Amino acid sequence: MFRTAWTIAHLKGVPVRLHVSLLLIAPFVALSIASRDLPVLLHRWGVDPQALHLSPGTFGLLMAAGLFLSVALHEFGHALVALRQGGRVQGITLMILGGVTQIEHEEATPGQELRMAFAGPAVNLMLLSGAWAVARIQGLPLDVYVALQMFGVINLFLAVFNLIPAFPLDGGRMLRGALRYRLSRPQATRLAARVGRFLAIAGGVLGLLHGMPMLSLVALLVFFAAGGEEARVTLGPRLEGLAARQAMVTRLVSVYPGTELAGVARHLLMSGAQAAVVRRPGETLGVLLPEDLRGERPDRAAQDLLVGPPLQVSADADLAEVLAQVRQANQPALVYDESNALVGVVTLDGLRRTAELRRLAEGLQAAADRLHGDRVEPD
Ligand SMILES: [Zn+2]
Repeated sequence: MFRTAWTIAHLKGVPVRLHVSLLLIAPFVALSIASRDLPVLLHRWGVDPQALHLSPGTFGLLMAAGLFLSVALHEFGHALVALRQGGRVQGITLMILGGVTQIEHEEATPGQELRMAFAGPAVNLMLLSGAWAVARIQGLPLDVYVALQMFGVINLFLAVFNLIPAFPLDGGRMLRGALRYRLSRPQATRLAARVGRFLAIAGGVLGLLHGMPMLSLVALLVFFAAGGEEARVTLGPRLEGLAARQAMVTRLVSVYPGTELAGVARHLLMSGAQAAVVRRPGETLGVLLPEDLRGERPDRAAQDLLVGPPLQVSADADLAEVLAQVRQANQPALVYDESNALVGVVTLDGLRRTAELRRLAEGLQAAADRLHGDRVEPD
């Protein structure tokens, strides 16, 4: 598969990845700053463009670098606060219009959630005030003054944009954190996601009316991300109290670690199995799902696709717990019974299906109870 992100550094053990979108968009950002934003801002600050030594293009490049730096520091702010509050940070990805810091902290208090979300924009507000304070110093070279002012503008934009209360933006997370003082986490998420979708629709319409395609595009991304976040948070509570054996697929086929993927696909097809367990005598190494094979080279070995030590759970394990483990390990869970025999595999898709089934079952039961209640009521 085509790689879309590269690990460029580690921050306190957290991999920092650079997404290809940032590399692709950086030249356009530089160009648009140089040709469009710089003249407008210079006019506003009363600076004569002729008095500058650096060319507009150089300013554009400098500011593209400044944007990258600001986005990186913004994400580091999230990560450091999350780590300090006992969260787990899986990775930081720097991409177009900002970054994504994957934080696993399901049991964060509302206050912790507020602080983790605000940490990013707070960094931008600090950079903004720092840059503008230094720019006030008398006798600075004009080019330095303009660069500082522009760096401030970039951070003002990042702070304001991220504080919009729409998932997955920081403002949306802060809104959820605040709502959680009164509501449960799933309820708060649902409400915050609804607000996010409303704002996304408003932004999309505004973008179309005023001929700002970029705004419409961002709004569209926000709209879909809001739904994703809602599904992510509401899944866990719907699985609580159920056991791993209730969500596992049981039709399995065994393959050797060295079996080529073409062979794995054939085994899955011939046996009608839903998952291929990679094992050698006396040792189970992991599991492959049909979708794992998509787009892979046919001559790769089964074991090459495994993403780490196998995840093993007992058949009685609580499904909400299994969900957290499956997400963290980024692979399905192997399910073992009391006699330590492999009896099934729990996949993320299976967990989603089970959560949906439970919602359905409870809804139908409630409706049935109402019907029943109507019937036995004395008239
Ligand atoms: Zn952020």
